Amino acid sequence: MTFKDLGIIEPILKALAAEGYTNPTPIQEQSIPILLKGKDLLGCAQTGTGKTAAFSIPIIQQLVTNRDTNSHQRKIRTLVVTPTRELAIQIGENFTSYARFTDIRSTVIFGGIKQGRQTDALKKGVDVLIATPGRLLDLMNQGFISLRDIQYAVLDEADQMLDMGFIHDIKKIIAKLPDNRQSLFFSATMPKAIVELSRKLLGDFEQVTIKPQQATAEKVEQALYFVSKKNKPSLLVHLLEKDPNDSALVFSRTKHGANKIVKQLAKADIKADAIHGNKSQNARQKALGDFKNGDLKVLVATDIAARGIDVEELSLVINYDLPNVPETYVHRIGRTGRASASGIALSFCDTEERPYLKDIQKLINQQVPVITDHPFVDDGIEDVPLQPAKKHHNNRQRQRTGHSNPRGGRNGNRSRSSNNSNRPKRD
Ligand code: AMP
Repeated sequence: MTFKDLGIIEPILKALAAEGYTNPTPIQEQSIPILLKGKDLLGCAQTGTGKTAAFSIPIIQQLVTNRDTNSHQRKIRTLVVTPTRELAIQIGENFTSYARFTDIRSTVIFGGIKQGRQTDALKKGVDVLIATPGRLLDLMNQGFISLRDIQYAVLDEADQMLDMGFIHDIKKIIAKLPDNRQSLFFSATMPKAIVELSRKLLGDFEQVTIKPQQATAEKVEQALYFVSKKNKPSLLVHLLEKDPNDSALVFSRTKHGANKIVKQLAKADIKADAIHGNKSQNARQKALGDFKNGDLKVLVATDIAARGIDVEELSLVINYDLPNVPETYVHRIGRTGRASASGIALSFCDTEERPYLKDIQKLINQQVPVITDHPFVDDGIEDVPLQPAKKHHNNRQRQRTGHSNPRGGRNGNRSRSSNNSNRPKRD
């Protein structure tokens, strides 16, 4: 299947070729025909599946082909609402790329910065508006934005919006949309509240589901390290020093924790930066920019800040803390192994995090292989059933985990199954 087979018009095909997309991903293959027919869509999929292109390509195509030839004034005909600034920027970049050989114009608005540039862009006129809910309502209330001409409305990462407390804002926004529109609703998970919300947005819809299991298990090589809380910093340094030229995204459950990890890495001469909600928008963009262009090898992020981070060649994700919401694990490891690339996700698990691990393994329907061949093994592993590490590691993982040397890895430490007197004492 090619994009041409899906009926995509020439200027968009040219842009996709320039992006290096040769074939549609499964969500694109399934969603694009539904959307080009003008039907509403409920998409159960996470980022990393090619979801953004799945909705932006058919929207751009319809904006080009269903144009009102009598009106010369540009009106906002598409609205995309998304939970975080990073995701909004990412979606904006995608729209700009895919529409670059058309005359469709888009802009992005989000909070945390002055509104002047955003209102200037709106005054010039745009076809597509990508927005976070708070700033959108704010600018609507100030009279800079009207939703009366919206023909295509997208609610993205709906579960995350609910988690972030945007439910009332979202309902207010939906209430302002014209009845005659095509609506798209995306969520990685479908709890009851999300299904109810989707009913408010969607009319007669079709559903496309890309299961997290498919997205993660197939492409991302996962591994687990049992380690005490106290030894997590040393294990992180140990792993990062193995491949200093690779980019690694490290997840921390809290903002404070993220700052602490950056400091601990600095002590080991590993340059890292953190992004989280307490950092200014400029600082976040700078860190993300440095990480994307390769100047910064290690980025430490909280979950909310990391939504929408899309970095080419991101080969390694490290879960320094395990998330207490299992779906978040799937989101996190989806940062690597995007679209066609393969990736590695390593997770640290201390004693308190064992219940989270259980929930995660249940959700992904897999036992994550445990790496025991490292210098900071937590003795607490004795009471949990272990799954031997996968035999078919690729070379990079073999290097990282030390499995190329069955007698004890690169540091001469033995695996759990051996009588390991070198092992550091339990804390
Ligand atoms: P998303 O799920 O929208 O966050 O997309 C994940 C990544 O996949 C982004 O880096 C896209 O640029 C990339 N991508 C989307 N569609 C394709 C495709 N058909 N072929 C290759 N890469 C793609």
